[in-house]
Amino acid sequence: MKIFDGHNDVLFRLFLKDKESVHEDFLKGDNEGHLDFPRIKEAGFIGGFFAIYVPSQEEKIKSADKPIRYDDMENDSYELPLPKPVDVSLALPIVLQKIDILKNIEKQSKGEIKICKNAKDLNESILNKKLSVIMHIEGAEAIGSDLENLDTLYDLGLRSIGPVWSRPTLFAHGVPFKFPSSPDTGEGLTEIGKQLIKECNKRKIIIDLSHLNEKGFWDIEKLSQSPLIATHSNAHSICTHTRNLTDKQLSAIKDSGGMVGVNFAPAFLRTDGKMLADTDLDIILRHFNYLIEKLGDDKVGFGSDFDGALIPSGINDVLGLNKLRLLMKNHGFNDQLMKKLCHDNWVNVISKILG
Ligand SMILES: [Zn+2]
Repeated sequence: MKIFDGHNDVLFRLFLKDKESVHEDFLKGDNEGHLDFPRIKEAGFIGGFFAIYVPSQEEKIKSADKPIRYDDMENDSYELPLPKPVDVSLALPIVLQKIDILKNIEKQSKGEIKICKNAKDLNESILNKKLSVIMHIEGAEAIGSDLENLDTLYDLGLRSIGPVWSRPTLFAHGVPFKFPSSPDTGEGLTEIGKQLIKECNKRKIIIDLSHLNEKGFWDIEKLSQSPLIATHSNAHSICTHTRNLTDKQLSAIKDSGGMVGVNFAPAFLRTDGKMLADTDLDIILRHFNYLIEKLGDDKVGFGSDFDGALIPSGINDVLGLNKLRLLMKNHGFNDQLMKKLCHDNWVNVISKILG
């Protein structure tokens, strides 16, 4: 059963290597982190949202799976301070550099990898067994205060935007990493944020609600003409983390024809909110079951967060998807349901939005 996934940060991992020709490391396989091309093929991972993330200035990043202070997230409760906003002059060059890495990967893949810009691209790419990439930006700082870079980035292949990673932007406010807590942690969209949503609708760009606080979520729900998408978030009713979605939010996602990708990061899975690699994989099934109950079986998929977060040691890297698929089957998910959860749901909703 092939997997199409809602979120990975392999471009961030490669960017951190800070050297020329990281695309070769990816294509040949550096066996580091969670994802590289040989392991992707072996795992039956056929595509997903590839995130472009700009690190906060105060982040001391050692590796892609330790982007924030996970030690604090092992406490019974926690609230990490939000990093300061990042200026467009800092964000844009980093975003362009990561797009360059992705373009080099596509170019040097000898036709095995495709950056998909519309439904036709995506469906042909899947049919031809290529790795299908949706270019996603996590935190919209690089777009600029007058949205002056939106069309440049669109022309380069950008088709999905998260207005915020958790720190505030010109457009909206993200949730702090806080447990336990409601996602209602502050102000919603700014005026220019509302403008961004309208411009995304016009261009058929996917809008990602993961990382937004609750007011921002409802602002978009009111404004957007597009299905509501949370690429990598879980059920708040099971894990009361700010990053997760309340039943009311899930109901709005369902009504919009949208979708949720299940995030593998323990802090967003576990009932105690702890970021611990030693996490039983059954909790992933609990979120799948719950989301299916609330959304229906055609609005749930994967949102791994590979190379962007700590992952349960039982999965370890993309090859661990085999174990997870087996667990899902043994849990009673039949082939028809598996096909939906593993790839069809994402492919359908992306095709619908991109057109
Ligand atoms: Zn994220």
